[in-house]
Amino acid sequence: GDSHGRKSGLPAHIQAKIQDHPCYSEEAHHHFARMHLAVAPACNIQCHYCNRKYDCANESRPGVVSEVLKPAQAIHKALTVAASIPEMTVVGIAGPGDALANPTRTFATFRGIREQDPGIKLCLSTNGLSLPQHVDDLVALGVDHVTITINSIDPEIGARIHPWVLWERRRVFGLEGARILISQQQKGLEMLVERGVLVKVNSVMIPGINDHHLKEVSRRVKEKGAFLHNVMPLISDPAHGTYFGLNGQREPTEAELSALRDACEGDMNMMRHCRQCRADAVGMLGEDRSEAFSLARIDQDL
Ligand code: SF4
Ligand code: SF4
Repeated sequence: GDSHGRKSGLPAHIQAKIQDHPCYSEEAHHHFARMHLAVAPACNIQCHYCNRKYDCANESRPGVVSEVLKPAQAIHKALTVAASIPEMTVVGIAGPGDALANPTRTFATFRGIREQDPGIKLCLSTNGLSLPQHVDDLVALGVDHVTITINSIDPEIGARIHPWVLWERRRVFGLEGARILISQQQKGLEMLVERGVLVKVNSVMIPGINDHHLKEVSRRVKEKGAFLHNVMPLISDPAHGTYFGLNGQREPTEAELSALRDACEGDMNMMRHCRQCRADAVGMLGEDRSEAFSLARIDQDL
């Protein structure tokens, strides 16, 4: 079968926007490169599958630690990489925490890149909690792709994945926290779509928790205008203590994952070639040249 993202049903204006984006176009991912800048160390929610020592599973593989860059270092890295890898079309911020839990660092980085190289596409991945309040700034900067990780639209299920959120300077636990997260995610999605920003939704498939619910999530986010849904497998590494509180939480099998993707496919464009890159990935998809552009090298240059 087809192991790549399908985009055949997409309207022309969306096709035009994604044709040179390595993550969204199966043709483009052989020809264009992407780079993640790890400038956002903090997070504003807790996911059971995260233990904070590793990159955010919004986009990345948990279990790898990226060097956190200061905005000046990140801007320098982006421009250096863009100058040496001509296929570089997209720069994203995806952690290692949540990009919008650190808005000052994230926006300073985007702004610096925008000023010096207006040709680079900017994208961002977030859990969505603080998304609505930043939509105007994202639009003003010309960020045209945002990924929101949405694991449920039902607070009962959400509370089993996200034990708390940081909301108005306090931790809100359980159902109430999950309700806030879900409503912020849906509101952010609607606002972005209304303003013409492309929204992809990531969901982490967690057997016995949200596996049977994700089809409904897929339908809902499509209705609201997300253009792509990426169901990612839970990566549960007991050695790293992932999935706190649910010891022995297993990963989905390949067969379960592809059955769920097939089930969602009828309703939604499914992404099949996301590699869950680390928060400082550099290069073509499936390739990682982050070592060549490490912090030590950047500091030598700066
Ligand atoms: Fe960890 Fe990312 Fe969840 Fe934050 S949003 S708790 S960094 S997986
Ligand atoms: Fe693209 Fe997925 Fe890698 Fe992000 S994590 S750069 S969406 S392939």
